[in-house]
Amino acid sequence: MAKLKTVDAVVVGAGFSGLYLLYLMRRQGFTTRVFEKGGNVGGTWYWNRYPGARCDVESMQYSYSFDEELQLEWSWPEKYSAQPDILAYINHVDEKHQLSRDITFNSSVTRAKFEEDSKVWKVVVDNGEVVNARHLIMATGCISTANLPKIPGINDFNGCTYHTGYWPHQKVDFSGQNVGIIGTGSSGIQSIPVIAAEAKHLTVFQRTPHWTVPARNEPMTEEYERSWKDSYAERRAQMRYSPSGSLRSVAPIDLSALDATNEEREQAYRERWAAGGMTLLKSYNDLLTNDAANETAAKWVRRRIAGIVQDPKVADLLSPKTYPIGTKRLCLDTNYYETFNRENVELVDIIKEPIDRITRSGLEVLGRSFDFDSIVFATGFDAMTGTLLRVDLKGRGGLNLSEKWAAGPRTYLGLMTEGFPNMYTITGPGSPSVKSNMMTSIEQHVELVVEMLVYFRDNDIETIEPDLRAEDEWVEHVQEVASQTLFPKANSWYMGANIPGKPQLFMPYIGGVGAYRKICEKVVAEGYRGFILEYKNTKAEATG
Ligand code: NAP
Repeated sequence: MAKLKTVDAVVVGAGFSGLYLLYLMRRQGFTTRVFEKGGNVGGTWYWNRYPGARCDVESMQYSYSFDEELQLEWSWPEKYSAQPDILAYINHVDEKHQLSRDITFNSSVTRAKFEEDSKVWKVVVDNGEVVNARHLIMATGCISTANLPKIPGINDFNGCTYHTGYWPHQKVDFSGQNVGIIGTGSSGIQSIPVIAAEAKHLTVFQRTPHWTVPARNEPMTEEYERSWKDSYAERRAQMRYSPSGSLRSVAPIDLSALDATNEEREQAYRERWAAGGMTLLKSYNDLLTNDAANETAAKWVRRRIAGIVQDPKVADLLSPKTYPIGTKRLCLDTNYYETFNRENVELVDIIKEPIDRITRSGLEVLGRSFDFDSIVFATGFDAMTGTLLRVDLKGRGGLNLSEKWAAGPRTYLGLMTEGFPNMYTITGPGSPSVKSNMMTSIEQHVELVVEMLVYFRDNDIETIEPDLRAEDEWVEHVQEVASQTLFPKANSWYMGANIPGKPQLFMPYIGGVGAYRKICEKVVAEGYRGFILEYKNTKAEATG
């Protein structure tokens, strides 16, 4: 049998992370294979094509910074980009840098095993290929495995069903239809107003009301675009060391909400509500750490909901009361609450009226039945770990990642996990990832990994993996930082609480993008402190 050629790296996924990895790996002369489950590039933006899909980070900041020419030549049509515009951008990057020629599409990596004798990863792909790679880079995204709830009768329905995360490529036409939608997170909140405007009737099944604030999306103005392009390098540098990897349009007030007067708070919240976007959560410095401070913002938003939604009962149902504002991902919407004033929209509280089953013609809740032409599942994702754990990943001694992470993900810096040498998780659990502007975090991790690979090549280092003690300390640090906030109080997907049986702990690192970056820089400056480096033909050496 012909001997398998060994490549420097296999990259899993061709979203923003995988594409940038491929670009940098090529420039460094590494041989790289990229495998992508989808039929084209784009990752999240390839799959999430549901009506109203849009990014909640401003366009000028949700884009690559590595290519100065690209960031100056590209024009975003809106302040917050719609999915088709982001996908068009990704396709442009792909074409500009001729990336697709090294990507194998419609191909999922199903298994990978670290071969201890040869120190390579043997990677098995569902297209029949087996590839040997010195490094395995999981660029699989944080929110990429859909969660389809196990509702009895789900396969009996005669109409059409959709999940927002696996939306068809051709337009779905809901006109004249009775539609049911389950789920009111970001995807539901974005799609409900758009589907309601098209369908004959829309029934929204809500389990937990989510906090949402207006995005205030608008066409990009030349002036705003110019203000960014005139100082892009400087602004990007600030973003990299900022708390969230992005810059706010309205400055945060460095004061406790409890130290402000009622009038001052009213003005601060009003100003940020009017500006739109995530800035509301940054009105004061303790909204996400102090219950009483948080409640001042929560109460204010509940009053806004009551002011928009005409039926007081519906307004009350839409008002979150069981968890602090911002501790599930704050949603940005366009006309979400207004949509519940439409005559063709009904809200069903499935806490009071639980879904009994899906039937051939629709859905039954506590003795009430609904007939639908289509049912939309906006029920979220097995986030952060779901996609990684669906690949059968075996490290040293045949250790399976799902065994190692049985009680929750364990990583050092969210980048590597002990026992899995030369395997990297781009924006993995334990890194700022979903608690940041993903583009900033993706670029940081990709640049860090490629810098590491160059260093290993130049210094004859064969393998790297975290030292167990460093990993344990990092896992503890991630939880410690989270415990100083209100985040653990919500049953969120950050906590793994949306998936029955999933271990519950706060998965992203919330210490801040800039702080995290400095930690990584220090680790590198100190000779990869906390990692075990194994040199070619020599014994392992722990650093730090
Ligand atoms: P999500 O936030 O997890 O929301 C899922 C919704 O489905 C929740 O309302 C949830 O209720 C409900 N649900 C889940 N299982 C259910 C069940 N068995 N029965 C009834 N209801 C059920 O998912 P998502 O809306 O897809 O958003 C996920 C994340 O993707 C976001 O938080 C965001 O980070 C990202 N995203 C971003 C954008 C953007 O950039 N604007 C857009 C979409 C998504 P509970 O709350 O009770 O669990």
